[in-house]
Amino acid sequence: AKEGGRRRPLRRFVPAMRERLQRRREMELDLRAALEEEQIELFYQPFIDAGQRRVIGFEALLRWRHPGQGTIAPSVFIPLAEETGLIEQLGIWALEKACHQATQWPTDLAISVNLSAVQFQSATLVEDVRRALAASGLPASRLQIEVTESLFIDESDKVLSILTEFRSMGLTISMDDFGTGYSSLGYLSRFPFDKIKIDQSFVRDMRRPENIAIVRSVLGLSKALEMQVIAEGIETEEQMRILYEEGCREMQGYYFSRPRPAADIPLMLVDISNRWNHDFAVTEALRR
Ligand code: C2E
Ligand code: MG
Ligand code: MG
Ligand code: MG
Repeated sequence: AKEGGRRRPLRRFVPAMRERLQRRREMELDLRAALEEEQIELFYQPFIDAGQRRVIGFEALLRWRHPGQGTIAPSVFIPLAEETGLIEQLGIWALEKACHQATQWPTDLAISVNLSAVQFQSATLVEDVRRALAASGLPASRLQIEVTESLFIDESDKVLSILTEFRSMGLTISMDDFGTGYSSLGYLSRFPFDKIKIDQSFVRDMRRPENIAIVRSVLGLSKALEMQVIAEGIETEEQMRILYEEGCREMQGYYFSRPRPAADIPLMLVDISNRWNHDFAVTEALRR
């Protein structure tokens, strides 16, 4: 075969691609086994009300402790689970586990669970949620679900009927990563959202006037639409203070706590409540 210069990139590309496919197939098999072998776990990250100075709930976030590769991030294995259909099983597992664990907490806090857009293609999603609530005994009013804008790419009638059903059951429905997807603002009024989560990309650099402007307009929008609003990805006191000054009260981020295992929930509650008078004192000062 000719070894022309133009073919060289292809010669490198094909084996690399084969290797990638191979790795992907291996990870898919590993993921199937992971659920049975209890390598999958839920971590919890608190979200707070800075006005009332208290934790109001925890978001459940999947972790995969892979025996050979250490902890694999959800940004890696969730897309894989979505492509292979495993997300349905994984999603139900997470929902049932989160509902069950929330019933063991010391107080009646909210539990927020992420649902993939792919799960909305399942004919049994509403039933699965009902069953998770019934089996755990968790009141529906404590369960929040988080969906992203990718939900609105297609099949909006089906999505609307599922969300409407969730709403009538008493769940809180949050729009996660708001402002990063295929947004048409119209869906905010057409679909029954209770809460908007301002994406962390807007919070990260709050010194940029553009990001302040975006945050301010989302806060205005949520007020006009009578929706709750929460900012995610808060890492510094400065970000907290600016958000508070802009009128945001619900917050979540590493500044309050990183996601931690279920067993650490009592610790996280104590830790945050101890920090109101120093680390988070800024919001108390702003109240006066
Ligand atoms: P998300 O739902 O937007 O979750 C927030 C992500 O930001 C989490 O990453 C969290 O650990 C991280 N985070 C929280 N506070 C901060 C902060 O102050 N700074 C920074 N840099 N990051 C922060 P994680 O746990 O890696 O999850 C990534 C994404 O994976 C989630 O984004 C969610 O879309 C998805 N995911 C996680 N668990 C589930 C699940 O059970 N089901 C589904 N469908 N998706 C899930
Ligand atoms: Mg989320
Ligand atoms: Mg998010
Ligand atoms: Mg996200």
